[in-house]
Amino acid sequence: MKGSPINIFALGGLGEVGKNTYCIENDRSLILVDAGVRFPEANLPGVDYVIPDYTYLKDNRAKIKGLFITHGHEDHIGGIPFLLRTVRIPVIYAPRLAAALIRHKLEDSRFRDPVKIVEYDSDSVIKIADDFVVSFFRVTHSIPDSFGLCIDTSEGRIIETGDFKIDLTPVGPNFEINKLSELGSQGVDLLMADSTNAEIEGYTPSETAVRHGVEEIFDKAIGRIIVSTFSSNINRIQQVVEVAVAHKRKICVLGRSMKNVIGIARELGYIKIPDQSIIQENQLKNYRNSEVCIVCTGSQGEPMAALSRIVSGDNRFTQIYPGDTVVFSSNPIPGNGALVDRLVNKLVRLGADVKQNSMAFSLHSSGHPSRQELRLMQRLVNPAYFMPVHGEYRMLKLHGEIAKQLGMPDDHIFICDNGDQIVLQNHTVRRGGQVPAGAKYIDGLDLDGVSSQTMNDREILKNDGMVSVLMVTDKRHNKLLVPPMLYTRGFNSAEDSHVVRHSQMKAQQCVQELMSRNASYAEIKSSLKDVLSKYIQRKTDRRPMIIPVIMEAR
Ligand SMILES: [Zn+2]
Repeated sequence: MKGSPINIFALGGLGEVGKNTYCIENDRSLILVDAGVRFPEANLPGVDYVIPDYTYLKDNRAKIKGLFITHGHEDHIGGIPFLLRTVRIPVIYAPRLAAALIRHKLEDSRFRDPVKIVEYDSDSVIKIADDFVVSFFRVTHSIPDSFGLCIDTSEGRIIETGDFKIDLTPVGPNFEINKLSELGSQGVDLLMADSTNAEIEGYTPSETAVRHGVEEIFDKAIGRIIVSTFSSNINRIQQVVEVAVAHKRKICVLGRSMKNVIGIARELGYIKIPDQSIIQENQLKNYRNSEVCIVCTGSQGEPMAALSRIVSGDNRFTQIYPGDTVVFSSNPIPGNGALVDRLVNKLVRLGADVKQNSMAFSLHSSGHPSRQELRLMQRLVNPAYFMPVHGEYRMLKLHGEIAKQLGMPDDHIFICDNGDQIVLQNHTVRRGGQVPAGAKYIDGLDLDGVSSQTMNDREILKNDGMVSVLMVTDKRHNKLLVPPMLYTRGFNSAEDSHVVRHSQMKAQQCVQELMSRNASYAEIKSSLKDVLSKYIQRKTDRRPMIIPVIMEAR
């Protein structure tokens, strides 16, 4: 391998949970690690996904040699259709399950150009030109086939953990701890590791610890059992269906993403459900309540997901019956707590017995490492330099402090934002330059994204409402034929009548004065916005969107 400095940076995944997209490049070649999306927060009305700004990749498209996927979660593969619309990716390297999920995703988004997908496993070694050699170690996480990457370059070795927890009694194959420690003992220059749970002390409980709680529910329940969790949590779904089959219950899967994922995972043998144990929703009526287990999406209280739809009577085939046991096998993501609470109240009102995860009753275990596992990762890899990844700023910071507690010098720890480059050269790492790394908001089917101006407008409409001003003029005689009329949205009625009356008077004065000076429509509109916005802000403390509409009589 010939030497040139290695730039390492994120286009997404730092200062946020989601849209993981990391770049590793030298002067000839660039490889990507993961291409994720982020799901929007409540302050982004109408947005379905947030993706990275791919400008840097567009500008350096000739250098792109491949995309490595660590595992099949949306925050690691969800950006692929958008990325492929922006630049050509010669090869996507992915583990088997992720590869199947990616193929399905590309069919689903009607992506026509064929893209080469190469499946790797734990023994694969992939050479990228003369520049990078990538090998893999299996990790444990909430989806099967999760891997960390070892990237050897002319300047040193980089380890990227992907999402992981160190689960010693996993569902599925073991974490390849020996392999990782072997890589570590050969010398690792830079570690990039998952920070999602850096705020939580101790060890994340094993995935199999959840099984006991699930079994207890199945032992006791008399009516139907409805289990909702993330469709991406395949290891959990596998445990639930095994317990259901053992309790002689038929399994009915509800929710589009849940059906997709279970379909693909069954086909590849990651979830085993005998054909006779699966029933469709229109067959539910043929079975007694004690013979049924529904597995569905909606554990975050999402109004459009399967569980909410059953509750609100939107499902043609089923509803909630008194005596149903509803299991939330997940924790609310921060920000979703209120939605979940609302859904739980509705369920209880309908007579369901709701079981949620708690300290006393374990129905969920995170797929990410807590602080003891992060320490163990540092000890195993023993890196010279460290860049915490996958996490909000405070998580990255805490993760950095863990490395420091274990003896790493302060200036070997790089807490970065998206777009900040660090440079690996001759086994040392230093800070580098900056690349553009904003966010793009995707609304509906338009893959080109919504501008931040549009997001701004939606924010204004949501918080401050809207005022439209309508008038009719006779431009030839420079006369106002119909004086300005105001229509408001989002104001309360007391504010409304008073402010509307006075605003109309102000608007009329303003327009008449401008017309007497023969002002253009553009001038009239901008003065109107100015005058009304100042007045309304003074009176109501709001800054609504103001839309003047001038009609000309002919
Ligand atoms: Zn993940």
